[in-house]
This record gives sequence, C-alpha cells and structure tokens, in this order.
Amino acid sequence: MKKLMVGNWKMNGSLEANAALIGALLQDASAWHCDVAVCAPAVYLAQLQTLLAGGRIALGAQDLSAHESGAFTGEVSAAMLKDLGVRYCIVGHSERRQYHQESDATVALKAQRALAAGITPIVCVGETLAQREAGQTEDVVKRQLAAVVHTNGHCISEIVLAYEPVWAIGTGKTATPEEAQHVHQVLRAQLQAASQHANRVPILYGGSMNAGNAASLLAQPDIDGGLIGGAALQASAFLSMIAAAR
Ligand code: PEP
Repeated sequence: MKKLMVGNWKMNGSLEANAALIGALLQDASAWHCDVAVCAPAVYLAQLQTLLAGGRIALGAQDLSAHESGAFTGEVSAAMLKDLGVRYCIVGHSERRQYHQESDATVALKAQRALAAGITPIVCVGETLAQREAGQTEDVVKRQLAAVVHTNGHCISEIVLAYEPVWAIGTGKTATPEEAQHVHQVLRAQLQAASQHANRVPILYGGSMNAGNAASLLAQPDIDGGLIGGAALQASAFLSMIAAAR
C-alpha cells in the first residue's frame, strides 16, 4: 500500500505562515513516493483549498460535528467541510477526547458523518501512560476501534486509522518501532475480523514522529504512514519524513 503522511497543524498557523509552509512543501512534491495531506484549523480551509488546488497535497480538517446541521453554535458540519474540498478529517484525536470529553460513541458518530459526506475519517486511538503501565494498551485501543466498527459496519474499510499513544503526543517520547508494530498488528487483526476489505485501511503511527525516527517506524510491516503534529510545521522536517515514506 502507498504510504500516507499527514500533518496535523493543531491550533497553529496564520495566512502568511500557511502560504509559506505550503509553498515550501510543494516545491519538492515531484519527488514524493507517498500520499500527503495537511489537516488545518477550520478557518484556514478556504485558503488551503486555493493553495492546494491541483497539487499533490490533500486537504484535511481536524474535527467535525457529530450533528448534521442546525442549532449547534460554533460547530462545523461534514457537508461544510466537503463544500471546501476537504478529503480527510481527523476524528477522536486524544486532545479532543481529553479536553472536550469526546466519548468512543461520539467519535464513532463523527466517523459516520464524515463517511456519509464522502470524507475519509482519520480515526485516532491510543492509550494513556497510566493505561500502558497498567498493561491495558490492547484493551483500550480495541475498545476505541470497536465503537467505530460497531457504528460503521462494513464501511470500516473506508477509514484511515491512526495509533497515537497519548503519552507520545507532543512529548518527544516515541513508541519504539517494535512497540508500535505490535499495536498496529493487533488493530489490523481487529479490522480484518470486521471486514474482508480491511487490508486497504492505512494504519498510521502518530506521537513525536520526527525526521530522526520516521524511517525506522515506517519500515514496520503494519505501519502505513504517519500522523505528525509538531514536526509537520517545519517544511524541512516534514519533507524529510515524506522522503522516508516509500
Ligand atoms: C498529533 O497531534 O497527532 C501528534 C502526533 O503530535 P506530535 O507529532 O507533535 O506528537
């Protein structure tokens, strides 16, 4: 499977900084062997739709509403994202689960909204440090994925899955390639049990992936790409990770 490298800009950027970053990335695009996307704050999606038009970088969002439309002040619907040319949308990022109390059921519903609108959800799962130390890693990620499988049925083969150990996000600590591969293998088996087309689901790793560790993580058989936060904000670092994805 072609690898997929996704930048998650989180709550960073400005009109000027976004244009400079995309300009620097696109200069190198003819050399890429993988698919690339950037997930930007909602207010910049229109700017990025223009900047990315016809190019090699797909447009992504970071969240969407679990509701279809109506009286939900401040929320952005799947249809609105689709209107702006959004191809991917992160759902269930640990920062949403932690700071916005998103439950497994809400995450599953958001994935369903995205799929119904023709947007590929990038569904994030991952354990906290306390859960890892208590030996609960497999149980936690399986429970999180099970909710999405339960709600989405055979459409599960249309998602992108991201394993992001919470203790590795933005901390500089990374799962070793072997630790990550083990969890990816568990998730792959769960997907295979849910859908005969599960082998087409890319399983990304995320959590302090950087230019130094990307190649060894991406060399693992069940790691199909990366979901990259901090390092995706620097063109040189993101480009060297993209170059490692082949
Ligand atoms: C993320 O935000 O999904 C992420 C993995 O962040 P970082 O790469 O900064 O750890």
